[in-house]
Amino acid sequence: MAPISPSPNAIAARSLLAAICLMGSVWFFSGCKKEESFEAERFLESLITRTDHRQVRRAPEGKVIKAGSITPVTGKNSHAGMRSSLLMPPGSEVVFSIPEDVGQATYLRFATGIDNTSYTGNAGAEVRFVVLLRKEPVFHANVPYNSDLPVSQRRWEEGEISLAGGGSLVLRVEADGEGAEEVKSGFAELSVVKKLRRVRAQSAPDAPNVVMIVLDTLRADRLGMYGSDRGVSPGLDALGNKGVVFDRSFVASPWTWPSTASLITSLSPPEHGIVGSKSSFLVDELQTLAEVFLQHGVTTAAFSANPLICAERNFDQGFEGFFEHVQEDAGTILPKATQWIRENSENRFFLYIHLLDTHTPYKPDPVMMERFCDDPPPGYSEQMTYSLLHGHLKGEVEDTTKLDQFVDHYSDLYDAEIATLDAKLSTFFSNLSAMGLDDRTVIAITSDHGEEFMEHTMLGHGRQFFSESMMVPLIMVGPGIPAGVRIEARVENRFLAPTLLAATNLAAPESMPAVNLLEATRENHPNEKTIFFTTSLGRWPNGPLEHRGKILQIHGCLKEEWLYMWAPKQNNLENELNQLFDLYSDTEGKENVATRNVVRMSALKEEIVAWLEAGAETRVDAFTDQALAEELMRGLGYIGKKPAISPREERNASEGN
Ligand SMILES: [Zn+2]
Repeated sequence: MAPISPSPNAIAARSLLAAICLMGSVWFFSGCKKEESFEAERFLESLITRTDHRQVRRAPEGKVIKAGSITPVTGKNSHAGMRSSLLMPPGSEVVFSIPEDVGQATYLRFATGIDNTSYTGNAGAEVRFVVLLRKEPVFHANVPYNSDLPVSQRRWEEGEISLAGGGSLVLRVEADGEGAEEVKSGFAELSVVKKLRRVRAQSAPDAPNVVMIVLDTLRADRLGMYGSDRGVSPGLDALGNKGVVFDRSFVASPWTWPSTASLITSLSPPEHGIVGSKSSFLVDELQTLAEVFLQHGVTTAAFSANPLICAERNFDQGFEGFFEHVQEDAGTILPKATQWIRENSENRFFLYIHLLDTHTPYKPDPVMMERFCDDPPPGYSEQMTYSLLHGHLKGEVEDTTKLDQFVDHYSDLYDAEIATLDAKLSTFFSNLSAMGLDDRTVIAITSDHGEEFMEHTMLGHGRQFFSESMMVPLIMVGPGIPAGVRIEARVENRFLAPTLLAATNLAAPESMPAVNLLEATRENHPNEKTIFFTTSLGRWPNGPLEHRGKILQIHGCLKEEWLYMWAPKQNNLENELNQLFDLYSDTEGKENVATRNVVRMSALKEEIVAWLEAGAETRVDAFTDQALAEELMRGLGYIGKKPAISPREERNASEGN
């Protein structure tokens, strides 16, 4: 649907490239691929919280200029999401003193915008944002705030200025229309970045390229290599045979934003803070795998079909090209990615491809549909399947025969979709081979989460922490990676980033945990190591009827053979909820044994609280208002305290459970 839309970073990077190429052709009359240098950005700091360098020159009466966050549009799929900002109401002006020795390569990147609650003005009403450096205007943007402005036009206006030479930097916000005094406006990000020259690296067997493919919503157990006997994944299975397959790889969260942010930063959700729609902006302070590659001179690009993985939310950090193909399928995207590789194959590259084919709605190839699905049961549709499920959850549909038939068909469609995708991936892999890149390219395949098909009463993802949502494929193939190896140890796929750097002989930054999954064995990654999970889209379908429709913050962990899920007390939940499964005797997690294991459960809860607290301590403090705190720790009365045990729990505990 959407055309290729490179990010401002990408445009800047490319026009620079063009300029360099032009210079090359003038000076050397030769192609521009070899010995080329380019600019890579390094984040230095954000001015949002730099109160020591800031002076408020003007502020409307009764208003305070402070750090906070605003979003021009609300909603999970919105492309104008929440960003940490310096909140400056109209009629305010601040001045920063920028040191005079700031070099030529230092820039300020920011965005201007107003909060979604502020679109209340009449026709023509607008907020004017002005930036002056040493009294000279260097940026201005007029942002309308009239109430009838279409949602599609409510967005951030991006800006970038050179800070070379320093001096006084003035940020000014003005408006005089109706309701101007109530407008919530601000400068977002205010990131000081340094543009460094890098020599563009060339690939070699010991300095390989990396292609990282995230197959959104692909659970592990549907692939042949993970036990499915339906034959939906011959291409991926063949690829797996050529490299390392991780038998039990877990995601950090059962939905896209937190999980993908973990994949590309290697941090846990409490550490990176991208845990809900409000907090889903990947702040510049976070170091992504792409940025690390870029710093090493590696050419970078991304193709994303998932609307959540977008430049607007800053997921383009470190990518010279970030191509958004919202909702388009692999049949469209993989040929474009192949073309990109063809054009860049002389350089060492990192390519990230995020495909959405195995996410609903399923549109499998008719041939695969024929192979993997019977005729749909009478009355079947995806919508009907969900509506029967909701009826069932509300206790209105007792007989689930029809629902079960629908879910069986829905699940077959998922298999057919995997088979459809698998065939396209096979073509993509053969094209890579045909380009002669096999001996110098590492391919990594994983997913951001799985999908539930009523194994535990729910459909979809984001809801619970059972294996169908949390266990995903993880495959690595390429030079230096052993062939035909299965790694049994339980691992977290967020450690793929440092593993890829290690596998390609590049140093990982300090921000990433020093974990190399290729060294994972049961001995040095024992099951005793706890794996933590979190979701802000949780559901509790097996509890009392009153809780079944609620969207809950749920945290959980997997320790030894215990799977624990905990919904703390929160706005829409008066008392916490607990589920504990003994996967040793109950491998599928069907029997909640929480009340019989209160002591164990309390210990796990303490571990989760410690995990959340440790994350909060190290997290970049960019979201300075309550958005993140609300989303991650909604009503979490336990923060900073040990979990309380009720008198009844204590009694049970003393009875030896
Ligand atoms: Zn996803």
